[in-house]
Amino acid sequence: VKSNKEVTEKNREALMAFLEEEHPGDVLFTKWDYPQIIKKGKGNRVWDVDGKEYIDCISGMSTMNIGHADPRIAEVLKEQYLELDNWFDFPTPQRIKLVKKLIEITPGDYKKRVRLALSGSDAVELAIRSARYHTKKTHILSFYGAYHGQNTATMGLTGAGGMHRWYNPVPMADHCIERFPYAYCYRCPYDKEYGSCDMHCVKIIDDLMASGQTSLGNPFSGVNNVAAMIVEPMQSSAGYIIPPREFLAELRKLADKYGFLLIFDEIQTGLGRTGTMFASEHSGVAPDITLVGKALGAGVPMSAVVARAEIFEDAGPGFICSTYAGSSLGCAVGNKVIEIIEEDGLIEQCAETGNYLAKALETYKSAHPLVGSYSQTGVYYGIEYVLNRETKEPAVEATAELVNALRDAGLLCQLNGYYNNRLSFIPPINITKENVDEIFEILDKVTSEVEA
Ligand code: PMP
Repeated sequence: VKSNKEVTEKNREALMAFLEEEHPGDVLFTKWDYPQIIKKGKGNRVWDVDGKEYIDCISGMSTMNIGHADPRIAEVLKEQYLELDNWFDFPTPQRIKLVKKLIEITPGDYKKRVRLALSGSDAVELAIRSARYHTKKTHILSFYGAYHGQNTATMGLTGAGGMHRWYNPVPMADHCIERFPYAYCYRCPYDKEYGSCDMHCVKIIDDLMASGQTSLGNPFSGVNNVAAMIVEPMQSSAGYIIPPREFLAELRKLADKYGFLLIFDEIQTGLGRTGTMFASEHSGVAPDITLVGKALGAGVPMSAVVARAEIFEDAGPGFICSTYAGSSLGCAVGNKVIEIIEEDGLIEQCAETGNYLAKALETYKSAHPLVGSYSQTGVYYGIEYVLNRETKEPAVEATAELVNALRDAGLLCQLNGYYNNRLSFIPPINITKENVDEIFEILDKVTSEVEA
């Protein structure tokens, strides 16, 4: 690769030509003027092929919670490879250790069992298959704006980014998945105000369930046929949207009332990012199944489904998702990642940095009319840009301009949101207050330039 700009601009031209032909007017992938080719990473920094340095607020989409190129992970990988490279299906010391640890750290004071997988999507599929097999029911409830993956089963559960159109007809979607609006209070789908809404978004689900039929009116769906509800404790790919604390508790009540399983997809929110090991801890609510992925592998594909023991008990040998599921390398790294998070005190550090970050965000908002709102806990934060704070009209073009200008100024973050007007910041969870200062120095300057 000779030059970042030259090559990526070529790719972009090809991509845009394809989009123009297949999806005229589609703006889904136009967020970068040119995507950068990243060659190297260290800590909270990455470098592109031209040697330009960036502050990384994407972290491999939340896979690098402990930062890039930690030598402790490199060492574990080498040691484990020479000890045992991979072993199919049977227990290994690393698998046993990881399973025990995951049982210990995930929410839920009940007997658990764990199944290991590779990607987040694998974990979601495994959870859905298990929930359906265990309950002998077929229907799954999920939320608009959610991201649970893009493979055959998970695509139907995913509501983020309008991706369905790429894959129509979406398997499962039409006959056994029902999606509801998420508690996105800044833009309440029901035009309510948080505080006086009486959690209307949950009440709607309750009413539908009580009516015995979902909105699809499908004869196979409805209250008696719901196996599980899958929900992100905070909606990540939709723009780091944080629901009110009681949202998960209300969903727990619904699950108990109607007897379906509650699955928390903590693939992006888990392992320290929100200032607790898992985001659901902020609500004090335990699901029946917790999904862990991304940061667990710190660059190596690794994910896990942690469930109430009885959910997995009736599924016997062969109920795995891949020959590489729970690979020796993945498990060894998973164990090391959790050890690093615990021994380096990263959760405490992240919570403390989060307090500092909260002040920086408030200062930033008061200085910039373009900022409509923000959400934050730990180092999990998203900012929403609007043309007018009263009308909340999404500042789509300004946000695209912002993400490109931030990239040029050496700061990488993620553009997303229901209206493509949010930026999410996903730094390694061990960033310092000084790192927060440097992020906001750039953000402040670039936002002023875009606003001018
Ligand atoms: N669930 C959530 C909440 C995610 O953020 C993602 C990935 N963005 C997935 C599932 C899918 O994970 P993967 O890309 O590893 O399949």
